Amino acid sequence: ANEEKTPIAEFLKGQVNIATEFRGLIKPSDFDEYKSKEGFSALKKCLKELSPDQIIDEIEKSGLKGRGGAGFPSAIKWRLVQKAQADKKFIICNGDEGDPGAFMDRMLLESYPFRVIEGIIIGAYAVGATEGRLYIRAEYPLAVERIREGIKICREQGILGENILGSDFSFDMEIFEGAGAFVCGEETALIASIEGKRGIPQLRPPYPAEKGLWNQPTLINNTETFSLVPWILRNGSNKFSEIGTDKSKGTKVFALAGKINRGGLIEVPMGISIRQIVEEIGGGIAGGKKFKAVQIGGPSGGCIPASMADTTIDFDSLKEIGAMMGSGGLIVLDESDCMVDIAHYFLSFTQDESCGRCTFCRIGTRRMLEILEKIKTGKGKLEDLDLLEKLAINTKKGSICGLGQTAPNPVLSTLKYFRHEYEAHINGICPSGKCERLIKYE
Ligand code: SF4
Repeated sequence: ANEEKTPIAEFLKGQVNIATEFRGLIKPSDFDEYKSKEGFSALKKCLKELSPDQIIDEIEKSGLKGRGGAGFPSAIKWRLVQKAQADKKFIICNGDEGDPGAFMDRMLLESYPFRVIEGIIIGAYAVGATEGRLYIRAEYPLAVERIREGIKICREQGILGENILGSDFSFDMEIFEGAGAFVCGEETALIASIEGKRGIPQLRPPYPAEKGLWNQPTLINNTETFSLVPWILRNGSNKFSEIGTDKSKGTKVFALAGKINRGGLIEVPMGISIRQIVEEIGGGIAGGKKFKAVQIGGPSGGCIPASMADTTIDFDSLKEIGAMMGSGGLIVLDESDCMVDIAHYFLSFTQDESCGRCTFCRIGTRRMLEILEKIKTGKGKLEDLDLLEKLAINTKKGSICGLGQTAPNPVLSTLKYFRHEYEAHINGICPSGKCERLIKYE
């Protein structure tokens, strides 16, 4: 009973481990250990017992949606690629994680290389891809090393290459190291980058499922999505769809960080509330300070005030309140954090990472940043808030890719829920005392 109350037990309680199954119990690069924990049994089942159609049906029944941020139903993408007529098809695992405060892909690639590889091979078999790329940030050297080692071992074990596990399915994959541009996480920019071109997003359609890498049908999913696939096929779609809410099934991995007592990588069932994550898993706010807000979804997401902490974590509930799940950044803020400063921080990140193709994303975000700088230094005017909002809305509408379409979210959500803080700054007061040259509320 004592053990159950240790901080680590409290941290783990309430979590459901699917992408992170057997956390702490398997050595990442130990092939035999992975196999002893049912590793590659989902792949074996797929190759021996299931047709590609049956696999996609299982994915559809599980309700799996892409974990990269947009939450698009995975089975729709898989079926589009499967039905596409082409001599060659590709599969890409997107591990180009670049959001500040997010390290979900990194942890999955470093800790569960065989699980990611198994998920990709199952995806390849289902859609008929013969070649794969794992796009990993070069800033993640351990992830690159573990996946490289994993690919080598899988080739030696007949799990990659010709006639996988004695079947008539042949498939191989290689790593592509991304050079650290945030925009390359957008799938068309990522494809351009693999092709050796400048990594800038393209207008869609055509979607990568029709015309992707080298103009061939290409399935792209994020690392976490592929990590969930072996579990779903091994345990059945029902087991997965039993977890979560009506429209958001399964679990989500988050990087829980900020002013929290217990931070780290967590995997929680969809439908859990923000309060449960902060208070039960995270152990509440550090240093006895007051809980102020969470910033969810990194630079694409939004700030949710503590008063709305009973909001549940699922695609629809977050969308309804103007936030976004994003890929899994979850930063907890306390009373010493300034919301204008937070909006400024995230916007300066996206402004810096904009590829410059769209006028609103290139110039609109710059003008917004200038206004935020004015407000932060006490030089703002009330009418600036209307202009800020107008620019934010137009930037969302006038951008062709997710980066520009979501860059204004931190500004819009803080304007919506913390307008009083903006107004206080305009009156020369920073409520948290964070902004230099402004007075602090006593
Ligand atoms: Fe580039 Fe921004 Fe346009 Fe995306 S929205 S293509 S990042 S300029």
